[in-house]
Amino acid sequence: MKITFLGTGTSQGIPIIGSTHPVCMSTDPRDKRLRVSILIEFEGANYVIDCGPDFRQQMLTYKVNHLEALLFTHEHADHTAGLDDIRPFFFRQGDIPVYAHKRVVAELKKRFDYIFKTENRYPGAPAVAIHEVINNNLFTINKLEVEPINVMHGKLQVFGYRFANFAYLTDVKTISEAEKAKLNNLDVLVVNALREEPHYSHFNLQEALAFVEEIKPKQTYFTHISHLLGFHAEVEARLPENIHLAYDGLQLEL
Ligand SMILES: [Zn+2]
Repeated sequence: MKITFLGTGTSQGIPIIGSTHPVCMSTDPRDKRLRVSILIEFEGANYVIDCGPDFRQQMLTYKVNHLEALLFTHEHADHTAGLDDIRPFFFRQGDIPVYAHKRVVAELKKRFDYIFKTENRYPGAPAVAIHEVINNNLFTINKLEVEPINVMHGKLQVFGYRFANFAYLTDVKTISEAEKAKLNNLDVLVVNALREEPHYSHFNLQEALAFVEEIKPKQTYFTHISHLLGFHAEVEARLPENIHLAYDGLQLEL
C-alpha cells in the first residue's frame, strides 16, 4: 500500500489568501499546505479520502488518472467542495463509487443536487454510486479492507478509516474508549494537530501528542495543520523521534 499526502492544511490552506503571517510567507515548500486529503494506492487501484477545493490540483500534481473510490470523513467544505471535479473520472469510468455516512450523503445531495439527480440530468454532470458507511461495519472496496472509526469533531460525528495497520483520522476532538480500541497495533497513524492553542473541534498539538501516547502507533504523522502551528522545520525538530508533521507530497510505503 502506498500513501500520498495530497494536502495537509486546515480549512483555508497555507498560505491563506492575503495573509502576511511569516508561515504564509515561508519559502519552504513544506509550509505550503493544500486542504487535507490522502491517496491510497493498493493493488493497482486508487482511493482518495476527502475531496476538498484543491482536489483538481491534487489529481493533476500526482497524476491520478483513474479513481476507484472516494471516501468521505464528513461534510465540511474543506473535505467536500471539489466533488464536481470527479467529472474527468466519470467520463472515462462511469459512476464514481462514494463511501460516506448517510448524513454526509444527504448534505452532498443538497450542495450538489445535479450530481445526485436521476431525472432531467444536465449533460456533462458527473454521477456517483453511493455506499453508506455504518459504524462497526467493516467493508471491502475491491481488495481494500476498510474499518470505519467513529470520532467526534466538536458535536459533529466524523469517520476515520483503518486499512490493515494504517489509520487515517482527521478533524478529531474526542474519541470514545471503544473506538480507541480499534486503533491497536498500528504501524502508522495519521491524525490532526491544528495549532498550539486549544480549539473547540480539533486536537491542538498537546492533545494530539497525548492521543498518540495512548494509542502507541509505531509512527505518527500529523495533518490538518494551521499556519498558527508554526514553521514545518521548527515544529518537526521539536517532536519525538517517531512523530512527524506530514507535508504535501509526502509518500509512505506500507
Ligand atoms: Zn477539516
